[in-house]
Amino acid sequence: MKEHPLLKSKPKMIGVLTSGGDAPGMNAAIRAVVRTAINKGIRVLGVNNGYQGLIDGDVVEMDLRKVSNTLHRGGTILKTARCKAFYNLEGQIKGRNMCLEMGIEGLVVIGGDGSFRGAKALTALGIPTVGIPATIDNDISCTDYTIGFHTALNTVIDAIDRLRDTTESHNRCSVVEVMGHGRGDLALYASVAGGGTACWINDPDNRIGFNVERDIIYKMRTTLRTGKHNFIIVVSEGITDVHELAKEIQEKTGVESRATVLGHIQRGGEPCAFDRILASRMGFHAVELLEHAIGNRVIIISKDEVTDMDINEALEMPGKVNYRMLEINSAINI
Ligand code: ATP
Repeated sequence: MKEHPLLKSKPKMIGVLTSGGDAPGMNAAIRAVVRTAINKGIRVLGVNNGYQGLIDGDVVEMDLRKVSNTLHRGGTILKTARCKAFYNLEGQIKGRNMCLEMGIEGLVVIGGDGSFRGAKALTALGIPTVGIPATIDNDISCTDYTIGFHTALNTVIDAIDRLRDTTESHNRCSVVEVMGHGRGDLALYASVAGGGTACWINDPDNRIGFNVERDIIYKMRTTLRTGKHNFIIVVSEGITDVHELAKEIQEKTGVESRATVLGHIQRGGEPCAFDRILASRMGFHAVELLEHAIGNRVIIISKDEVTDMDINEALEMPGKVNYRMLEINSAINI
């Protein structure tokens, strides 16, 4: 492992914080960071409220028992926040100075890509920082999966299954709006797993060119002729007004249609086994990097291997659309 120029030896103390939107599995990641570090003889300060807590010096010393019984809990015991001050150099310097004052020699930031930009800034100011991707949106291109995505996916599928019971009983169409922050993974995976007749997601390259007439109305009319009278249509947030879309579907197909916006229930709940394990693996790896004096990295999972990547490289990676999965959805859900 290559030595980071800013960090000469194994740190005596590191910090950990959660930032951006909360995601199930953040606690499992905090727990892994704390316990791995303590095992290696490194003290850990938990920073409350993301970068705001860093600026304010709002910290708590973490011991083994501080993270007991958190593995299965959603949300984050360190709280999370969006901190405007950290977008500016002045705020970042305050954060760096607070680290120096408190003896934080390395930092683990658990959050999304915005949080990694903060991590990059801190590293440039001399505090080696490692990012762990945690967001339900799976919108961080460098990693196959982010912590929280699979839990949110299970929550969405559970909601779709429930909606299916009622759409089936009433011969209705349910239009379901799913979160995603401009990225369609949550909607797309949920559609494949939940039997969405159509799935409308952002497609920045316009390779699909989603068309309501062709991809929803025509498909529903064709499917009606095969004897199916209930439908689930999955739409990623921010694309269209799902209530208006439900009206249009009802007018054009004659199938009674309702829209459901799933909203913040998608962010909560106990992390599933996959997210607990992913968070444990990533937290362990993050501390190993700081122990070996390596910062400015993002932890990723690629082909089931947990490894790491340069933050700048990670932030430059363009968003991707899983066209294969879209093709599968369209072929199977008929
Ligand atoms: P999510 O994807 O769940 O929204 P995120 O980490 O992308 O998570 P953001 O709100 O974008 O969420 O960022 C979280 C915090 O990270 C911001 O409130 C800010 O404090 C810090 N941050 C974001 N972008 C930058 C930046 N360009 N420079 C410095 N700090 C930043």
